Amino acid sequence: MRIIRYDDGGTVRWGVLDPDGTARAADGDPFTEGLRPGAAVEGEVRLRAPVTPSKIVCVGRNYADHAAEFGNPVPKEPLIFLKPSSSIAGPGDEIVYPSLSGRLDPEAELVVVIGRRGRRVPAEDAMSIVYGYTIGNDVTARDLQKSDPQWTRGKGFDTFCPLGPWVDTDFDPTDVRVTCAVSGELRQDGRTRDFLFDIPALIAYVSAFSTLEPGDVIMTGTPPGVRPVKPGDTITVAVEGLGELTNPVVTEAP
Ligand code: ZN
Repeated sequence: MRIIRYDDGGTVRWGVLDPDGTARAADGDPFTEGLRPGAAVEGEVRLRAPVTPSKIVCVGRNYADHAAEFGNPVPKEPLIFLKPSSSIAGPGDEIVYPSLSGRLDPEAELVVVIGRRGRRVPAEDAMSIVYGYTIGNDVTARDLQKSDPQWTRGKGFDTFCPLGPWVDTDFDPTDVRVTCAVSGELRQDGRTRDFLFDIPALIAYVSAFSTLEPGDVIMTGTPPGVRPVKPGDTITVAVEGLGELTNPVVTEAP
């Protein structure tokens, strides 16, 4: 099933997407009682980010060839950081190029959506707390990431975390292509089979120090080919079999 959140006259509601693309309103909650699909949504459907996580957990350097392209060693343990929930943007939303930065990079990522609370979850049980998968763009002010001792600012500006367009609950993430195209030019290109740490290992590692809550997301790292963007560019992150997430880059208003 494909789960969406959409704008219903200023209120954001849950919905589902039928296989033919029809959006339906849905009552209930996906993580507790489940969703009960109802009538088709009338008119144009404006999708929002499909989750409202209490935390956005990110993994750095989870593809060996991406670590190498920035001259970083391959990590022996997952390299974990957080993005703030205020950085979330929806499908089609603008990514604002901050005036404080001189280098903005998109990062194409497969995103795991947690469905059940998990603390100290062993890797062999980890998939039982996964609800589904979506697409993410871990937008990064690379110059600030490098100059600041912590990555919070470089990774945390408003609009630096586009998510969507939906959560797919029947998706197999084991070996799928992850790409990023900028204004039509393919740049990043990798496959999830090349993860250094697979999804069960990431869930075990993260839940050993922080309780994962329903709706939380884990962004699984980005494949090689990262290069900067500029205002006016359009970024499309695609995960094979899951869909595409497209966002324009705009200059920050003074
Ligand atoms: Zn990333």
